[in-house]
Amino acid sequence: MNPNLLSKLEILAESAKYDVSCASSGVTRAKTAGGIGNTAGWGICHSFTEDGRCVSLLKIMLTNYCIYDCAYCVNRRSNDVRRAAFSVEELVDLTLGFYRRNYIEGLFLSSGVINNPDYTMERLVGVARELRTTHRFNGYIHLKSIPGASEALVHEAGLYADRLSVNIEIATEKNLKLLAPEKNHESVFKPMEFIQQGMLENAELRKNAPKLRKFAPAGQSTQMIIGATDETDNQILHTTDRVGRYKAESGKQTLAAINPEVAVQALTQRLMDEALDAQVAAADIVLDCTDNFATRHAINRACVRHRKPLVSGAAIRFDGQVGVFDLRRDDAPCYHCLFPDGEDVDEVNCATMGVFAPLVGIVGSTQAAEAIKLVAGIGTSLSGRLLMLDALAMKWHEVRVGRDAGCPVCGGRPAHPPAS
Ligand code: SF4
Ligand SMILES: [Zn+2]
Repeated sequence: MNPNLLSKLEILAESAKYDVSCASSGVTRAKTAGGIGNTAGWGICHSFTEDGRCVSLLKIMLTNYCIYDCAYCVNRRSNDVRRAAFSVEELVDLTLGFYRRNYIEGLFLSSGVINNPDYTMERLVGVARELRTTHRFNGYIHLKSIPGASEALVHEAGLYADRLSVNIEIATEKNLKLLAPEKNHESVFKPMEFIQQGMLENAELRKNAPKLRKFAPAGQSTQMIIGATDETDNQILHTTDRVGRYKAESGKQTLAAINPEVAVQALTQRLMDEALDAQVAAADIVLDCTDNFATRHAINRACVRHRKPLVSGAAIRFDGQVGVFDLRRDDAPCYHCLFPDGEDVDEVNCATMGVFAPLVGIVGSTQAAEAIKLVAGIGTSLSGRLLMLDALAMKWHEVRVGRDAGCPVCGGRPAHPPAS
């Protein structure tokens, strides 16, 4: 390889390593006659180097020159780092060369902003267009959409890329301004909307023209910096421009922007008695993310009645807990076996006691992992065990939890769930 290109590769691969590309590809595409490459059905990024890079993607930046000065980014204009820029042709050649030599399965391409967002986006799209059309490249392509890029360019990007992503960066506009003064949320959320719109329109068009190429078939993803500013987990899902709206609706909006194919039903009323019972009966798995004992016990009672697995999480100050109560199993304890109702416990919650913001993310992700395992029927669930995290020491402890034969809630539960 010519030394100039090698030096650019070294600089721009180093600059790209902080971007998250390691989402599963989610695309299956066979090699076509006369074409080159294919995508594997699952997890292009199945292998990682020690410093976080996925070895099977060429993870690279078009350029690390940037007109912006985001405090959290190694490529910010005020940082004294070596700079380089590829031409569209150089990147296309590099990708094809690496692919042919079997070094990579695809391309993850991002860029600093040069001149203006559209100027940069045009070049990113140019690489993907050239690969797909001139070279009939069928490998995986993940493109970063540049904040502030126009709808036409984002739309064209979706026609060539398998996955598009736009970084939300910071949950609230106020803190985004603090760390990335040149960015605003509109420039981030607009491209996300364009992608969502593109996917929905494409799905409609494909009903009559199934051969039409899918728009960003692996969907869109985003990433956010947690802990650099003072947001809580609520603000990560619910940005400040949604203050005054129901959290269920705001959360639904954020999730739909990330992946419109996920069906979210937002319920904006309090669930009590029969209403709670009906929702639990209709669910496959219940995740309790509430912050008070009365609600937790009401949810537990409904789960016991309908023998639904309950994934319970809690976080207060620097302490977190996650437990699974798989009430489909006869030997599984319920939440009440472990934390009996009516005992002399002080009602503490994060609204009054505070909570270490990253902790709720850790607890929530652990709950999500347990829920996915239960749905997929894989691995060993946390059933019968309670995990406790001391985030100050960053130590997990595990305690075994048995069923309490005298538990007034689950003690007499039937061997089979009631018909629902
Ligand atoms: S715009 Fe992107 S590349 Fe430029 S400084 Fe900000 S995060 Fe870094
Ligand atoms: Zn019990």
